[in-house]
Parts: sequence; C-alpha cells; structure tokens
Amino acid sequence: MQKLPFCAPEKFREIADAFPTPFHLYNEKGIRETARRVNRAFSWTPGFREYFAIKANPNPYILSILKEEGCGVDCASMTELMLAKAVGFEGDEIMFSSNMTPGVDFEYARKLGVIINLDDLTHIEFLKKHGGIPEKVCLRYNPGGELHIGNTCMGHPWDAKFGMTRTQIFQAIRILQKEGVKRFGLHALLASNSTDEGYYPTIAKMLFRLAREAHDTIGAEFFLINLSGGVGIPYRPQQNETDLEYIAQEIRKLHGEMLEGMEGVRLASELGRYMLAPHGCLVATAIHEKHIYKEYVGLDACAVNLMRPAMYGAYHHITIVGKENMPNDHVYDVVGSLCENNDKFAVDRPLPKVEIGDLVVIHDTGAHGYSMGYNYNGKLRSAEILLKQDGSFAKIRRAESPLDYFATLDGSEYMESLIKQTDSLNLRTEF
Ligand SMILES: *Cc1c(COP(=O)(O)O)cnc(C)c1O
Repeated sequence: MQKLPFCAPEKFREIADAFPTPFHLYNEKGIRETARRVNRAFSWTPGFREYFAIKANPNPYILSILKEEGCGVDCASMTELMLAKAVGFEGDEIMFSSNMTPGVDFEYARKLGVIINLDDLTHIEFLKKHGGIPEKVCLRYNPGGELHIGNTCMGHPWDAKFGMTRTQIFQAIRILQKEGVKRFGLHALLASNSTDEGYYPTIAKMLFRLAREAHDTIGAEFFLINLSGGVGIPYRPQQNETDLEYIAQEIRKLHGEMLEGMEGVRLASELGRYMLAPHGCLVATAIHEKHIYKEYVGLDACAVNLMRPAMYGAYHHITIVGKENMPNDHVYDVVGSLCENNDKFAVDRPLPKVEIGDLVVIHDTGAHGYSMGYNYNGKLRSAEILLKQDGSFAKIRRAESPLDYFATLDGSEYMESLIKQTDSLNLRTEF
C-alpha cells in the first residue's frame, strides 16, 4: 500500500527553494479537517471540548488554528500555560494536567483560572499553599493492574507514575468537598498511540463507572469527564486509520447507560498525536551516501529534529520526493549526523535509489516531532513552515542559529567570541 505525503512533489520543491532544509512542514487544511472530524464525532454531547495537548506541538500559529476550530489546550508546565495565554485561550479552555508540579506552576495556573487536574492526593495540600483550591477540580485516576481491551493486554497502569488509586480518588473527593469544592472532573491516560477501537470506550467506561459510584455513594457532582489522549494514527502504510466515528458512538451508548441522571457532565478529550501527527512532515535533503557493511543515506536532519525513531524505535514512513512511483529496490539505513548510533530515521528501509540532493520527506511529524527536539552535539532545531489552505506557505518559526544555542552563556566572557564567529559565518537567522 502506498502512503503519500500531504503535499505534491512540485510543492515540496517550491518550499525547499524558499527555505533551506531541514524544516517541519504543517498542513493547515488537514489540521482543520481533523479538528472538525473530532468535534463532529462528539457533537451528540453538549459542551464537548478537545483540549489539544500542547506538548505535541507547541507552535502558537498551530494552536491558533485549533482555537479557531473550537479546541482548547492541555498544558503541563509554566511555559505551556504562557503559550496558551499568548494565543488567547482562557479559563475553562485550558486544562492543566501536570504531574510532580512545581509550586509556581500551580500558582500561575490558578491565576489564569484554568481547570486543574490533580495528579496526586498530596497535591491537595500543595495546591492549597500554592494558589489555593478552586471550586471545580479534576482528578487523575490510575486504575493499576493491567489494561485489557478484549483479550489483549494494552499496558500496565500500575507501572505508570501518573494518577491516583481508586481509594485515593474517593479520599480526595471527600477532602476537597470539605475544602469547598462543588464539582469534580475525572481523567485517565492509559495508552499511547492506540489505534485499537476499544481503547477510548474502555477509558470512558472506567471513568463513567467511577463517576457514577462517587456520585451515588458520596454525593460527588461532576462537571467533566476527560478521556484524555492516546488515540493513535497509522504510521505504517499497511495500518488502518482509527475509526473515530465508531468510537464516539460506542461512548455515546455507554454515556446513555451509565450517566443517566447526572446532568451537566461535559465530555472532553486531550488528544495530541491524533490531532496533529499526520499533518506534519520533516523535509530534509540527502547529503551523503556511505557504503560499508550496510548502505547508508545521510540527511541534513538528525534525531534532534525528530527523536521518536531514536528514542522508541518508532516507525516513520519515508518518501523520496519525485520518486513516489519508483520501485523500492534499494535497502538503506537513513541516518542523521549525531555521534550516537541510534540516530537513524529508518533501519533496513526499502526505498528507491537515493541520490545526493534528493528531498527526503519523513512522514507524521506533526505531533511529538519538533517539540521533542534537543540540542545534543550542538545541533540546532529546524524552522517550522505552515502550508496554508490556499497553497501559500509561511515560516511560523525560524531555525535556531548558533546564538540561540549559546544564549544561556550571555554575560559570560566567552560570548563575545561566539557572537563574532556566528556573524563571520553569517549564521544569524531571522523570523
Ligand atoms: C501526552 C498527553 C496527552 C496527549 O497524548 P497523545 O498520545 O499525543 O494523544 C494528553 N494528556 C496528557 C496528560 C498527556 O500527558
């Protein structure tokens, strides 16, 4: 099965003529379509909101597209809250699903009046000291044990650092009721990149049941059930797309059966990957080939631009621009320039013959791509380009220059030389 990028070869060439590779390219049209699809699938439940997980793609231009489509955002740190505010999100449009949270982060979250999702029982006292307890609080649940969908084990929540046990959820509700909390939310995130249609309904069922019990036994009133993220996308050509409409209808049935009489409970999602991953790609140039015990193609991008293959051995599909219909009759390791042997975008990947200068497109980098970037080996983060709906394109983040890498040495005696060298090489970058 063929998996093509969202952009035609001529367009890739046009954009690469305007901006030097590597860069991440995002597709506005696809982003809007997915946001509409999610909102439509859950339109049966009034007040539904997708809180996009900012960590998946923290570019404010992308966030503002999602805002226009009616999404909120999910933050987990001070800087993510700052981005959310800068884009114009406020109050209930922001979830704060943090863990091991610094006090100042809670204080800022309270100042912005966002929905606080408490990760732990001990955070009640902590929040009381840092910002105070709001009238509505969401609680993050960890069911422990193993997560089974049908006969398949999908993971081991008991191994995860997130959330509270069932007993602690009830304890937290009782304590918070005494602290004046009027309404509660529940949240759980138990998988990552699950394309199993049973995943989201399993979470829904578990949270609906817990809410029902807390409602019936200790009189907890709920305002929110947040199904969180983890819905997957087909990274591999032979994988199927997640059937979101089916999932939403399954949840609708459970909702009808389990939450009867509990008025005013909004449903929410906190999707990152599902919203953005397919709508971004990393565009790089083949700059070296190497023939030793294996065949290598070396790119001008490396793991600092996309960490998932190095970190998890994740599969990202690769297209050689203009060679879409040529046979994949060569086998390569497609690699970057880090002094780390895991800096490989693909291992033993069948591809058409790659020539130096070919544009190489690495698919599905719209989520957990740029955002996981780092600066190992002094490598710099790339630019981000937005392909707009009308076919025009614009830079939405400049590439880093050496001066960004050295910025935290400002004020030191080395800075003068570093600035001088950057300028003599003409390496300053502009937005
Ligand atoms: C990472 C994360 C998400 C999004 O996860 P995806 O797998 O990208 O959908 C949602 N909520 C929380 C709390 C997260 O940490």
